[in-house]
Amino acid sequence: MAWPNDYPRSYYSKYEKVDIRSEWYDVYKLPNNVYAIVEPKHFQEVNSFLVIGEERAMMVDTGMDIENIRDVVDQLYKGEIAVVHTHFHFDHITGDKYFDKIYSFNEPHALKMLRRGATTEELAYQVQDEAFADGKTPSWFDRDSYHIPGIEPIPVEEGHIFDLGGRTLEVVHTPGHSDDGIMLFDEKNRMLFTGDTFYLAGIYTHFCSEFLGSSNFKMYLESLEKLQAYIPKLDWLVCSHNDILVEAGYLKTGYEAFKSIADGTAVPDDVDDVGLHGHGQDSELPLQFTFEGFTVYVNRKDYGKQKGKTMRKPKILISNCLLGIPCRYDGKSKLWEDLDAIEEKYELIGVCPEELGGLETPREKAEIYLGRVYTEDGFDVTYEYEYGADIALNIAKGHCVKCAVFKDRSPSCGCGQIYNGDFDGTLVEGDGVTTTLFKANGIEVIPASQAKEKLLK
Ligand code: SF4
Repeated sequence: MAWPNDYPRSYYSKYEKVDIRSEWYDVYKLPNNVYAIVEPKHFQEVNSFLVIGEERAMMVDTGMDIENIRDVVDQLYKGEIAVVHTHFHFDHITGDKYFDKIYSFNEPHALKMLRRGATTEELAYQVQDEAFADGKTPSWFDRDSYHIPGIEPIPVEEGHIFDLGGRTLEVVHTPGHSDDGIMLFDEKNRMLFTGDTFYLAGIYTHFCSEFLGSSNFKMYLESLEKLQAYIPKLDWLVCSHNDILVEAGYLKTGYEAFKSIADGTAVPDDVDDVGLHGHGQDSELPLQFTFEGFTVYVNRKDYGKQKGKTMRKPKILISNCLLGIPCRYDGKSKLWEDLDAIEEKYELIGVCPEELGGLETPREKAEIYLGRVYTEDGFDVTYEYEYGADIALNIAKGHCVKCAVFKDRSPSCGCGQIYNGDFDGTLVEGDGVTTTLFKANGIEVIPASQAKEKLLK
């Protein structure tokens, strides 16, 4: 594999290059007191940005840390500085360790991954010789110790405004590439920092792994639709990969391209290898669709059967009894009144952890007491509950679910409140066995009683 075949890229010649001391980064001065800190010698071709206000500055992402990015930032700016991530992927966050204050979108999987960091093994694919220009790993770079330490991010929500003094950056949530994907809107300067939601290169909608989270084409399309309203307020898209400044009208081009994939009028390229672009998929190679200036990679599973209709909705794991399946201990169901509304927006994957654990229906009522699960007659059924929870977790991971909606108060599915173990109807704070395992694995659990408010807002 040879990468790239046209290094250095010709588009950099459009920009004013800044003279800095670095063997790895190039820095370009953009309009409105923004610096692009670019990494052109790695196949990700990622761009981080230093956005300077009158009182403080913001780093939009921190790049790959092949070399210390703070050394470059310090040559450009001396005042107060914080970081905001466009999303949690490794190529945007690895230099976080050089900064104290780091903001990230409030999305459970992303926050979990930022807190845990990434191992040398997880990053190995990204720093093989072939990932660097001309197949040459920089002499100073030690791939055997390369890793991402965990950090404690400060969560932010849609509409959050960062005030830098004389300019603001507003958080615009744009899930699709990644659930936590945001853009940053600088209204005064008519700029939109796009993260990985749009740029002129390979656009990825196919990820499905713990390391990269789950992409979703349908959410991506909805994000691009939402962005159409911003076009009249913009001159430039400030892009996180490849060419740095792209005309705002490309947001319309991107939206039209995604629509043509969704309605089946776009034809996938006839290729059986997508090279480095295939990384992060769950199994088969993604489909590749080429448009003027950019390429879109789509998970084959999302495309296949749904071609010509709507693309696959985000997936949610749900307690089977809420779907009307009579799997409860008493042989009854608990059909969820909000089911129709949720089903419009999400694909529902049903599980009953207790049945998955081998318990029969109907079965003895059980409650949790001092961390173990007992039936009313005093039999310890903890093993069956934990076994079922393990299987449910594997199903959730296999489907890359966005979250789980579980029935309230169950010793398996309960979230926040469960019965106290005395079988007297008293509720205490706590989680069921499956919910506990899901939370430990960073999967958000929403009690059914709160799901409508959280998922349909
Ligand atoms: S284990 Fe969960 S899905 Fe099964 S009956 Fe109990 S609450 Fe419903």
